[in-house]
Amino acid sequence: MISAPVAGAGRTIIIGAGQAGLQVAVELRQAGYAGAVSLVGAEAAQPYHRPPLSKAYLTGEKTLDALQMRGEAFYTEQTIAFRPGLAATSIDRSARQVTLADGSTLSYDHLVLATGASARPLSCPGHDLAGVMTLRSLEDATALKARLGTARHLVVVGGGFIGLEAAASARKLGLAVTVLEMQDRLMARAVGPDVSQHFAAVHRSHGVDVRLGQGIAAVIGEAGHATGVRTTAGDALPADIVLAGIGVTPNTVLAEAAGLPVSNGIVVDEAQHTSDRSIFALGDVCAFPAPHGTGLIRLESVQNAVDQAKVVAAGIMGQQARYQAVPWFWSDQYDLKLQMVGLSQGHDAVIERGERSANRFSVFYMKAGRLIAIDSINRPADHMRGRKLLAPGAAPILADAIDTHFAARRD
Ligand code: FAD
Ligand code: NDP
Repeated sequence: MISAPVAGAGRTIIIGAGQAGLQVAVELRQAGYAGAVSLVGAEAAQPYHRPPLSKAYLTGEKTLDALQMRGEAFYTEQTIAFRPGLAATSIDRSARQVTLADGSTLSYDHLVLATGASARPLSCPGHDLAGVMTLRSLEDATALKARLGTARHLVVVGGGFIGLEAAASARKLGLAVTVLEMQDRLMARAVGPDVSQHFAAVHRSHGVDVRLGQGIAAVIGEAGHATGVRTTAGDALPADIVLAGIGVTPNTVLAEAAGLPVSNGIVVDEAQHTSDRSIFALGDVCAFPAPHGTGLIRLESVQNAVDQAKVVAAGIMGQQARYQAVPWFWSDQYDLKLQMVGLSQGHDAVIERGERSANRFSVFYMKAGRLIAIDSINRPADHMRGRKLLAPGAAPILADAIDTHFAARRD
């Protein structure tokens, strides 16, 4: 018979050595966890920061060394058994065992699923031609960077964060860039319409051909290599590289096969527990209770991975922790730092402060008289204020944000 998991001790296996997985290991050791920690990662590389992959790494302003989250010695010093280049292939919940790709098995008292997400590939005709790429991993970014060095025309499919950050990086490198976005505005999932409109104008002012309401019908090629695309509007465009930035799919296969509930992500409660008390899930792969009881949501951000890791580690240490952090994100495009705090979906009013023409403004989103989110462009003070105001349990009204903001500016 299998005993109940022991808090603060026992064997912990973390599957996925990305932002969330490594952070759980770090938090456990910082909290004095006395048990064994195994960190199993499918990628061959040491855990690395993904955000620079579409930004400074692509343009050559940051090297591989600068991406690494911890030095090699860290894993030995912290007695974390890091197994790179080895995917977990199955979970036997009744035996509390994980099987790895080399056939070996590991036993656990606590299991953490931090398997992240995979880039959604194109499925149109020509999707398998050389030069059609996605951007999720270091390997993807290194391959893209190499091609950017010799290519002339980049077509980006998808006007989300990946597409727009890659477009800005490619313009810096001198390529001709087209962005195809199916929706009628950019970054529609993350920001409000005014901010979308501003970023479309900024990209166009940097020479990007932004085409809204258009997708890709086919990739055209010669000798197995992409040479162009045909858009859903019927236009033919030249392309040496076609980059798909059309969203991600959570890596839930292991969890599903183990019989854990999955609904656009591994379903967890506020303590990051799956339906099995000895198994936690976090980061891009998990679907968790949305603030204010509005169903499940899945967030794809560094903040979410890091804050949920604290909750998982606390749970393994036997403490009662709940995930209640305010979501925040950022994106760097050209000389614009876009910072978002809160979730603006469902807003019924907006107020803008600052100067759009100077690329310095913030949009405050309201719902039923309460502030719910702020998008800031080159106004970090508004963002930082928003992170405090929108903290769990707070119900700020606009005056809290605006008045304090003006007070701060008068000082
Ligand atoms: P991941 O970082 O994806 O890590 C999951 C890991 O699990 C992967 O290494 C994967 O190989 C491994 N894995 C999967 N299955 C298995 C298995 N069966 N066995 C073993 N290992 C497995 N967020 C921001 O907030 N700001 C940004 O500016 C930003 N920029 C980004 C730029 C790029 C190019 C990308 C791709 C993402 C960016 N993000 C950004 C998003 C952010 O990086 C993710 O939200 C974050 O990495 C999620 O962490 P995670 O650990 O849940 O998943
Ligand atoms: P997003 O979901 O943010 O954006 C994808 C966009 O592409 C959506 O607007 C989508 O529209 C559109 N789209 C989908 N299919 C097509 C199509 N066939 N033709 C044209 N447009 C299409 O995903 P990304 O790929 O941009 O980003 C992937 C991941 O990387 C996310 O987890 C993201 O959070 C993360 N990331 C985060 C960054 C940041 O926080 N700064 C930076 C870079 C990446 P629709 O919604 O209608 O499907």
